[in-house]
Order: sequence, then structure tokens, then C-alpha cells
Amino acid sequence: MPDRRAERQAALRELLERQGADALLVTHLPNIRYLTGFTGSAALLLIRPDRAELISDFRYAVQAPQEVGASAVVEIDQTSVWDRLTRLLASAPTATLAVESHALTVRDAERVSAATRGRVMPTTDLVERLRASKAPEEIEAIRAAAALAEEALAEVLPGMAPGRTELEVGAALESALRRRGSEWHPFPTIVASGPRAALPHAHTGPRPIGRGEFLLLDFGAQVDGYCADLTRTVVVGAAADDRQRTVYELVRAAQRRALDGLRSGMTGREGDALARDVIAARGFGDAFGHSLGHGLGLEVHEAPRLSPTAEAPLPAGAVVTVEPGIYLPGWGGVRLEDDVHLTPAGAELLSNGRTELLELI
Ligand code: ZN
Ligand code: ZN
Repeated sequence: MPDRRAERQAALRELLERQGADALLVTHLPNIRYLTGFTGSAALLLIRPDRAELISDFRYAVQAPQEVGASAVVEIDQTSVWDRLTRLLASAPTATLAVESHALTVRDAERVSAATRGRVMPTTDLVERLRASKAPEEIEAIRAAAALAEEALAEVLPGMAPGRTELEVGAALESALRRRGSEWHPFPTIVASGPRAALPHAHTGPRPIGRGEFLLLDFGAQVDGYCADLTRTVVVGAAADDRQRTVYELVRAAQRRALDGLRSGMTGREGDALARDVIAARGFGDAFGHSLGHGLGLEVHEAPRLSPTAEAPLPAGAVVTVEPGIYLPGWGGVRLEDDVHLTPAGAELLSNGRTELLELI
């Protein structure tokens, strides 16, 4: 796998120069991972024009140098990473230190101000902007995560029967994901049955699945740090009734329209509208209350967004979810979610896109 850490840091330094900052304090851990390879839970990363310094603590004294290699100088502090930052800034001051205002707590912002005599410049999403366009090996990791998630689902589908609880199905699915190599569950698995499928972010619970009900499964997998995010909705124990079929096929048509029409260069709003217009034209616009999709990468929700308020063009190389849904309170809901890689020519599926209605009889 190519080592892109130096080129990523170089691209970041260019962005910093354009902002008029001579250093960036990176505090968002996925950004630190992207720039250095460090996967631990405690670090500060100082990106300067001529070097990068990663500060961590005793727990990572062995791991940090191994993961970071030559991409940064590693400083391990036994007491406080913030004290060490203060000392580093005292020995080599910065005139303008940029910070990640979207990731910094108020308390840590006060610590930064106390640590530097120079100016502090709030910035947002500098590293996230770089992360939005994926390199080929990042796209392959997401493709592998999606394949793993699909295999796990195929393994547990036969066990979904009336009377099984959501938690039982969720446990089987999470076990299959882990056994097949998912590093972690990037978000809490959603298994929502019957009327609970109308809750877009339902908590998986003890409810037994009823015969003929929708079962909505939203689940992820992680490979080499990269996340896949899939949703399938199935009917359990009986054939779908007319209303279930109508709503399901409408969501499916909306997703199909978006998969066919999406490409980089259009805005996130235009991408969102591809699916939203199909649903709204049939009178279900109010029942699709969330955005069409989000970026995927080291985080399960990252840039760019496909939403009615996203005016930025979608960058080439972005990986996004396409997940229209219709939710009817008291009745149930349908969501279908696949993952795609955006190019100027269109959207390449990274998941299998197999959304024909499954009736588990
Ligand atoms: Zn999802
Ligand atoms: Zn999603």
C-alpha cells in the first residue's frame, strides 16, 4: 500500500499557507490517523512548515513510534500532553497557530491559548477537505468492508423469523461481522421491526419480530480503519402486502435514480434531489426527512454530504452513501443504503446494490 502521509501533509501545508497560518494543531483523532497513521485514543499533532510533532502519553510509548514512523517526531509525556505542547511552543514559537474549531472543546481552546504566545486562528475542516477525495487504496478498503458486511448479512438472513427479537438478530449480525474481520462496528447496529422501522435511528430492542413485518437493518463494517455503511429492509415470515410493496418499490426507484444520476461536480443538493424528487412526486416527500447520504471513510459520517442544504460541489474520488427512506409513523418504514465512489462520469457501486425485495418465508 503506498505511503501517502508525506503528500497529505504537504497538501495540508499548502492549505495552511493560503489561510495565513504557519502551523496547525490537529486534535481530531481521525485527522491525526490520516496524517500520521496513529490509531490511539490520545494525541495532539502539530504540523509545522518543516516538521510534524505528535504528542501522546505513556499508553502509546511503544505503539506511537511504530505506527507513525518517519511521518512525525513522537513526543511521549508522562504527565500531560498539553504541558508538552506548551513546552514545544515555548522552544519554537508559532506566529499564527491554526486550530480545528469543529473538534476543539472550549476547555482545550483555553489550553491552546495558554500554551502559545502567538495568535490562535480558528479553522474548520482543512484535513477533512483533503480526506474527502479518496485514493485508490482507500476506496478498496471501503469496498472490502462493504463485501464483508454483505457476507455477514447473507449468513444471518436465514435466521430471521417471526418471534426472534431485534437484539437476537443484531447479536447474530454483529458476531458475523466480527468473525469475518470487521475491526469494529462503526456505529450501533440498527435492527428495527414493524412500526419501529418508522424510526430512522431506532435503538435495537427486545421486541420480537411479528409475522409479515418489515425488518430494517442498518449496519457497518470497518477494514483498515475505513467504514462501510449499509441498510437493507426485508419482510419476515410472509409475502409483502400491497402497501409494503408500493412503499418499498418507491424507495428502490428513488435510490436507483440517484445511483444512475450521481457524479462528482454536481452539488450535494443536486445529488440529494435526484432521489428526493422521485419520492416527493408520489406524495411521500414529508416522509423522507433526512438527507440522502454522507461521506464515508475513516469516519462513518464525513464530508461530503448529499442534502438539500449542501451547496458545495461533490469532489471526484469522494465515497458517499445513497440512502433514501420513507417513514410512516405507526406503520413502519423502508430505507435502502448503498455506498458509491464518485467520478465525473458517474457513481461506481462499492456495495452490491442488490435491493430486490426479500420476503423471508
Ligand atoms: Zn447506515
Ligand atoms: Zn448512512
